[in-house]
Amino acid sequence: MLIPLLTEYEKEHIAERQPLPERYLGLSDEEMAVRIRAAKEALGRRVVILGHHYQRDEVIAFADYTGDSYKLAQQVRKHPEAEFIIFCGVHFMAESADVLSGEHQQVILPDLAAGCSMADMADPEQLEMCWKELAELGVNGGANRIVPVTYINSAASIKAFVGEHGGVVCTSSNAGATLKWAWERPSTPPGAAAPKILFLPDQHLGRNTAYKMGVPLDEMVVWDPNEVRGGLTPDEVKHARIILWKGHCSVHTRFTARQIENLRAQHPGIRVIVHPEVPWEVVQAADDSGSTEYIIRTVKESAEGSVWAVGTEVHLVNRLAAEVAPARTVVSLDQFGCLCSTMFRVSPNHLLWTLEGLVAGEVHNRIVVPDSQKHWTKVALDRMLSIS
Ligand code: SF4
Repeated sequence: MLIPLLTEYEKEHIAERQPLPERYLGLSDEEMAVRIRAAKEALGRRVVILGHHYQRDEVIAFADYTGDSYKLAQQVRKHPEAEFIIFCGVHFMAESADVLSGEHQQVILPDLAAGCSMADMADPEQLEMCWKELAELGVNGGANRIVPVTYINSAASIKAFVGEHGGVVCTSSNAGATLKWAWERPSTPPGAAAPKILFLPDQHLGRNTAYKMGVPLDEMVVWDPNEVRGGLTPDEVKHARIILWKGHCSVHTRFTARQIENLRAQHPGIRVIVHPEVPWEVVQAADDSGSTEYIIRTVKESAEGSVWAVGTEVHLVNRLAAEVAPARTVVSLDQFGCLCSTMFRVSPNHLLWTLEGLVAGEVHNRIVVPDSQKHWTKVALDRMLSIS
């Protein structure tokens, strides 16, 4: 199995895990497994554990459901009987679960330090400013409409803004359908030009999805929130069909077209499949691209003897490789394995601590979206769930 090498950045950030009480440190894997199972059993149907595909195996082993953000968001709705939803993922996912869950349910994130560098690249003040500046540029307001679309990998405050301004949340599973939905929003006055989309925070998912739908690159612009008016001229903005926020995933942008070239030279006949958070040129060099669920399905359904290089987080790649072997071979597109260091912060120790806390009647690390954001976040998420 591929053991990912950690960069200095990752080592430093993984070290910033939420501290645990002394008694939860230094436990053997066996002891943790026994105690996690016992706590789960004691809680029964009062708890449901959701595990994102990018979690490490020692955590996934205890998940009731695994999936990508979209699939796990759907699971929240399917378990109204669970008082507690433990979300083994990152902060924005737990926020979405809180919004989609019932009043009687509490959502827990085992390690509060498990954030997402991409979600951190868009803050609500920057978005307010962008919205205002787009109006000053003459493309937002009056007969011109902009529909904001935010990737689920964003803070609840961003989703609330988007919901309140007629927009929607998307995931990598339904990004194409969501862009179609947004471009088809009625224009005002009737007959005016189709709306433009403001897509945030991941420029790559926005670009790759729009390009796949036939939008040429010269009808897309990148809005840099650190520049006045996004660093764009009025003409550039007027000409664009989609305005891409300058954000990215620090894991997926490590994949390169050169890696694909090298692998093809070493393994003639290898097929390459990547996640759409990778840069555009990497998608172009690959054979296929899609959400984590799509990647898993495509590889599992491929012909026996197929050899795949997969460009997404290494824990998913390793598990997929083990599941499809020996009939199919799967390797990581990055020979060192790209690791999501923030997901990696959720450890079995943290999971045990939260579970035993619940057994003892203590709720640790509850994630609560403020009431002021809840309504519009829910509107944006409900729109997402209605688009397939
Ligand atoms: S893989 Fe990238 S987008 Fe996903 S949680 Fe990690 S940093 Fe965020």
